[in-house]
Amino acid sequence: MKDFGEISEQRIQGIGRTSKRTRQRLVDRLRREGIGSEKVLELMLNTPRHLFISEGLEHKAYDNTPLPIGNDQTISQPYIVAMMTELLLSEREYLGKVLEIGTGCGYQSAILSKLAKQVYSIERIRELQFDARRLLTQLGYRNIKYMNGDGFQGWTTYQPYDGIIVTAAPSEIPQSLIKQLAIGGRLVIPVGNAEQTLRVVTRTRTGFRENTHVAVRFVPMLQGRA
Ligand code: SAH
Repeated sequence: MKDFGEISEQRIQGIGRTSKRTRQRLVDRLRREGIGSEKVLELMLNTPRHLFISEGLEHKAYDNTPLPIGNDQTISQPYIVAMMTELLLSEREYLGKVLEIGTGCGYQSAILSKLAKQVYSIERIRELQFDARRLLTQLGYRNIKYMNGDGFQGWTTYQPYDGIIVTAAPSEIPQSLIKQLAIGGRLVIPVGNAEQTLRVVTRTRTGFRENTHVAVRFVPMLQGRA
């Protein structure tokens, strides 16, 4: 990712294919495709996705498509980000502590930052997290703590979490993660190898409830840090 130094307000607001007008078209599309939360839609409108992706692809930032972010990783398509965020919130307006596995370029972290009191974000690739952290700090997102580590372990220091969101796919739901959910907390996670589905696990007073949602395609969740 590019070193922006100071990021001007103009650059954040965007112009032409990164302008509010272009973003509004994306938001209209997300609404048509079933994203119902006004809060999530507003965040999709106001979060400058064009600053999070690889150089030279800014003009595609508000297309509903996944894009490369370097280190062989991708930022999810906006529809999936919006849907996962909506599933994480469920009927709740605002969350306390949220754990994110897979900081990547930091775009999802930026969205979560506005919906939670505190975000904890783990990424296994050091450079990606370094860049994400710098950008998010420059943009003024302050309530995010970062760890370069292996998300399979979760982050026990700050558990339990009201929400855990995973943006890389393991072949099975990691038991260590559901143990770190608060009662009423939700885990949103893509699961599978060649074929993946989005799952939601909710911790209840007596155990866990699991629901399967749409088919998705995420990069694999890998063991260990890099
Ligand atoms: N939410 C990100 C999506 C990044 S892609 C965004 O908005 O850009 C998924 C990320 O998960 C990759 O950066 C990948 O390195 C990371 N990842 C994969 N396995 C992981 C693990 N075990 N622990 C932490 N991060 C992991």
